[in-house]
Amino acid sequence: MPRPLPHHPRIANHVQARRQIVDGKEIVVVTDGQGNRARVITPEQWDMLACADGTRTVDGIFLAAAGNRIYSRASAFRDLIEDMNEEGLVDEGLESLSLKKPSPPPDTPSDRPLLALPGYSLTCDLSGRCCGVYPSISFSELETARARSLRPDVLDGGNKPWQVFTPYSGSRALKTFAVTLVDGNCAYLEPSGLCSLHASAGPEAKPYGCRHFPLTHHDDGVHVRVSIRTECPCTFSSIGREGGAPLVPPGARTAGDLPTDFDVVPERVEVTPSASCPRAEVVEWSNAALLAHKRRADALSTLWTLAAALEQEGPTPTGVTRWLLDREPVLPTPAEVRPWLGAVAAQIQEALEGQHAWRGPRDRCRTGLRLISGAARRLMELEALSAALAPRDDPQDERFYVNAALFGHHLLSETVVTALRDRAVRVLVSRALVPLLARENAAADAAHPLAIVDQVFRAAGTSAYPDRLPSPSRTT
Ligand code: SF4
Repeated sequence: MPRPLPHHPRIANHVQARRQIVDGKEIVVVTDGQGNRARVITPEQWDMLACADGTRTVDGIFLAAAGNRIYSRASAFRDLIEDMNEEGLVDEGLESLSLKKPSPPPDTPSDRPLLALPGYSLTCDLSGRCCGVYPSISFSELETARARSLRPDVLDGGNKPWQVFTPYSGSRALKTFAVTLVDGNCAYLEPSGLCSLHASAGPEAKPYGCRHFPLTHHDDGVHVRVSIRTECPCTFSSIGREGGAPLVPPGARTAGDLPTDFDVVPERVEVTPSASCPRAEVVEWSNAALLAHKRRADALSTLWTLAAALEQEGPTPTGVTRWLLDREPVLPTPAEVRPWLGAVAAQIQEALEGQHAWRGPRDRCRTGLRLISGAARRLMELEALSAALAPRDDPQDERFYVNAALFGHHLLSETVVTALRDRAVRVLVSRALVPLLARENAAADAAHPLAIVDQVFRAAGTSAYPDRLPSPSRTT
């Protein structure tokens, strides 16, 4: 039974339309917001769909589009919107927009002290690699106006805003917009790798997300921990280097000194799929894990051992000491890790197939997906897996990877044992990725393979791969 088309169709709020130029051809990629079920349409079709804002009938959408000099065959447009309606991408009228309440701001007092990852500052290599992988780079309304006035020539966005920005979600641009991508790169990225907005008017000209990337801010009830996402080769090449940008500006002492949003560690943290513990207890465990990690060499075994200790003993500092410092390290057996690698391979393959239709050959995320898929498949062979399980000669990146995650509380907003094993699997995949990156002549990525794993997992929406595991595998 077909779903009846609403009288006043509106592109649903969870739908994301992204304007892209791939190999010189302009397309619009429409997804359900999870990166799934991508549909590639023409810019003209999107311009018509954008008139489906819940205030018009289908005939009214046609008239509004014609007023904007956008024409299409009525039957073709009706077929498109009916197909999208069948897929649950169309809602009725304005109601859910007007009823939507803004989420309350996180409860972080302005006098909460800041605690930055010690001994670290960030040196950006200005290569622009972070500006060419994420499908959704968001701008507020003010930021779009500033960008269009600074660089009106970019896609002629000064005159034609729709060519450079689409609503971040749905058909009505209420507050947030997504920038058009050119072969996977932000439209404002120059061929030199520099941000043209930054080059025109300094860092404040960039949108909020770009100004703060790759910093993370997690309020644990005592401090706001400032750490970094390990999604960029620069985060690793900055290790031990002096003179970079501090994670906290000079003079900033408390939360009120930062013009930033904070993530808040939940009051109860899910440590296993069946048990949660108070935040303070888990933070104490995490601090003990961080200290013990500093006395161990191999990050992979630290992550796997921490997961086993957490399951056996709960989040106790004594459990951390007993397992990490007083016993032999625990490494995953092939039987334990294979379901994880299978889940990675399946999730990546699905992303590759789903995104193949719209990611061009020069798209960095598509290349990363292809290589990670190859690495995961290699690791299914015993010989390659045994080689990848062996400790590294130069473990600096991997040790930092664990350090940044534990210090920054990155694992505490997920189920902690699953997050620990997920990071261990990412370390394994990154080890198998090195020869594949070297073969592609990607020297910077081959030097810091964990960066491309983390970057691609988030950009392609494949971080949820542990959901494919049967529950017991997710924990042991
Ligand atoms: S606005 Fe600038 S910093 Fe942000 S993604 Fe685009 S080019 Fe990069």
